[in-house]
Amino acid sequence: MREFRSEGLESQAFLSRRVVTPEGIRPAAILVEGEKIWAVVSPQEVPEGYAPLDFGEAAILPGLVDSHVHINEPGRAEWEGFETATRAAAAGGYTFLVDMPLNCLPATTTVAALEAKRAAARGKCRVDWAAWGGVVHDNQVDIAALAAAGVPGFKCFLVHPGIDGFTMVTEPQLRAALPAVARSGLPLLVHAELPGPIDAATETLAGADWRHYSTYLQSRPEEAELAAIRLLLSLCREYRFRLHIVHLSAASAIEELKAARCAGLAVSVETCPHYLHLTAEKIKDGATVCKCAPPIRSRENCERLWQGLGEGVIDLVATDHSPCPPQMKRLDEGDFRTAWGGISSLSLALPLMWTEATGRGFTLTDIVRWMAEAPARLAGCQGRKGRISPGLDADFVVFDCEAEFTVTKDRLHYRHPVSPYLGERLRGVVQATYLRGKPVFSAGEFPGGPMGREFLSREPAK
Ligand SMILES: [Zn+2]
Repeated sequence: MREFRSEGLESQAFLSRRVVTPEGIRPAAILVEGEKIWAVVSPQEVPEGYAPLDFGEAAILPGLVDSHVHINEPGRAEWEGFETATRAAAAGGYTFLVDMPLNCLPATTTVAALEAKRAAARGKCRVDWAAWGGVVHDNQVDIAALAAAGVPGFKCFLVHPGIDGFTMVTEPQLRAALPAVARSGLPLLVHAELPGPIDAATETLAGADWRHYSTYLQSRPEEAELAAIRLLLSLCREYRFRLHIVHLSAASAIEELKAARCAGLAVSVETCPHYLHLTAEKIKDGATVCKCAPPIRSRENCERLWQGLGEGVIDLVATDHSPCPPQMKRLDEGDFRTAWGGISSLSLALPLMWTEATGRGFTLTDIVRWMAEAPARLAGCQGRKGRISPGLDADFVVFDCEAEFTVTKDRLHYRHPVSPYLGERLRGVVQATYLRGKPVFSAGEFPGGPMGREFLSREPAK
């Protein structure tokens, strides 16, 4: 083996009793050459010359991949930013983030805006990243150029996104964009709620008390998600593009999604930790910290989402980390109508998921499939991220599965320490995160400089 190693690269061996590989969870040594995984061998087979790092009983998982993050920079760095979002990501075990094209200024709907984002990110990132391009009402001509410039895919909204500056698309506008999306071969991520059922429900709530969570929940019925998903599946059949449903909340859509997949449609589905951990029954009146769209639904709905994950109809779990300045959450008035919808969870997603998953009989292999492998495939970086396999980046999370902790503000690490999870007791502690062989988080500290790089899904045209 040694003769193939390149001279001058640092040789490290990451050892644990529980290494989560595509072949299963087992005692192993991951041999790392420079930034890449060279081989995975048994702990007794570490060749001479490798500096050993033995994590004992703590598990080693591939670095997690979050395909749904709002970093908000450039333009709204006071909401979040590359520095703080990637710091929180490192603390949460993520080594790769894909940024959503909205809430930043300019929105990432042109190549010029993508270049502005690249300039804003320079020298600030503690983990690797990429940027989805936006599809809005009038940028059909920018789709091919954004693909050529290296975005891994596109995002659009079928409903007002809660902020001006990034327009939703109507069905005719979406139809105008789909041929270019299909030609790119890249996935289209869609916020799947239609305005019709939301407007109709909201009209009946004119006199309702918007401090009640139940009012907000009624204003965004499952029907809005179902109708959007039906429309998208039919467009997917017609235009043959890769469809990805972001943040599925309505479990009633699972059967139709399952049928579409069985029929061979290229559709993938994501849900988020908050839909899998929080339930409507437990959200107190005025607790706008729990507002997101689509909304968190019933306990029963939550269990059906877990079933969907277990059956593989839901492919992945992404955070939809979507912060804002604390005053926009309207925590004082507790008004669900005016509060910003968005929940931040980059630093907590893994323990949140592990706490819930372990009680339902799921294993770290499932966690890795949902939070590393599948999102890496969506973002087109499966050849670099998401698995502990030779040739991939040496991105790891060292995770103590048995340890517990209480969520406090100092564990959040993103810009504004607002969270619905404060005070909760969670299972599983991220001890360390390694990006391309180097520690970017270790025992509460962030060693080294910001070494995160943009991942390009294709080489930009010269
Ligand atoms: Zn989002």
